[in-house]
Amino acid sequence: MATVEELKLRVRELENELIKCKQKQSAMEDAHPLYRQKIDKMSAEVVDSNPYSRLMALKRMGIVDDYEKIRTYTVAVVGVGGVGSVTAEMLTRCGIGKLLLFDYDKVELANMNRLFFQPHQAGLSKVEAAEHTLRNINPDVSFETHNYNITTMENFTHFMDRISHGGLEEGKPVDLVLSCVDNFEARMAINQACNELGQIWMESGVSENAVSGHIQLIIPGETACFACAPPLVVAANIDEKTLKREGVCAASLPTTMGVVAGILVQNVLKYLLKFGTVSYYLGYNAMQDFFPTMAMKPNPQCNDRHCRRQQEEYKKKEAERPTVEVVQEEEDVVHEDNEWGIELVSEVTDAELQAASGPVPDLPEGITVAFTIPSEEAADGDTVEETEQSLEELMAQMKKL
Ligand SMILES: [Zn+2]
Repeated sequence: MATVEELKLRVRELENELIKCKQKQSAMEDAHPLYRQKIDKMSAEVVDSNPYSRLMALKRMGIVDDYEKIRTYTVAVVGVGGVGSVTAEMLTRCGIGKLLLFDYDKVELANMNRLFFQPHQAGLSKVEAAEHTLRNINPDVSFETHNYNITTMENFTHFMDRISHGGLEEGKPVDLVLSCVDNFEARMAINQACNELGQIWMESGVSENAVSGHIQLIIPGETACFACAPPLVVAANIDEKTLKREGVCAASLPTTMGVVAGILVQNVLKYLLKFGTVSYYLGYNAMQDFFPTMAMKPNPQCNDRHCRRQQEEYKKKEAERPTVEVVQEEEDVVHEDNEWGIELVSEVTDAELQAASGPVPDLPEGITVAFTIPSEEAADGDTVEETEQSLEELMAQMKKL
């Protein structure tokens, strides 16, 4: 048995070792800081230490006029799960001004088939874990997190308040709300809040079998809201709860969720930074690699009274707007024998919709199913040329807005 003297000696030895370890670690941190410093002004300077040089290159290449403007925008992400967490990460890396994160859930090991969260975060609230990771990635972004369920009465009121006052400059509304939730009730709550506030938002979703998804831009009064044209499952009057049977969980794939988060943030960047065409609706069918697009008018008989009010206001605004003659530049129709050998395949036409496989529910006029699988022959080479329709005609047929 060791004497007290011997033990004291051993303690001293261990203490010295600990000091050495600490010194070594702090020297390492000095050489490679764990956290990067905030950056006051986005620079286009091409140096290895500039986290924004590749983004600012979008200006030089003529894609975006004013990339720095991204720092002035605030986006609220509701639901920080498979799609929401990746969405928040992309926006953080792009240098968004402020992110508001809403989620009531905790990180679980059962989420590890998805991206973003890590096993050591299990048990933490999703918003807390996300904020920690995101702040490390980009300390220039402001974060505001709310660990609650937006569908309860009290939280809903607070949620509405933060959407209308939680902008980068306190008191101003957020610029965009993104719905990345996984249930109908939460979507309806976001829809209700945005209709009431006239807040533009984007909806996203991944199917329970993990092989399809969609994104949708909703401008209250101008495009169909979530209550005007709910997704297929609701349109067909199927109770959502019957789909989720006890012990049977929904499937999820990091790939599908990554694709949906990617097309969602792409649409957000195009909308905020004003480049390219912003999609009203973009579907993704992973089984066929089919990406349908469309736009939907609001339903004048929508159940949401704020939606009907926004529709009236939009109509009034449109009527008051002076008619400006739109000068359209002639665009060359791309033919299938172009230099890249790329064929243009027509997207959903009414005929195809009729011929589509799978049950099509009886929908009110103006509302269609989220997306359908094209029939075999349509998928096999139904090119723009063969249909004898111009690209413009096809687009007009699809949009009908
Ligand atoms: Zn509506």
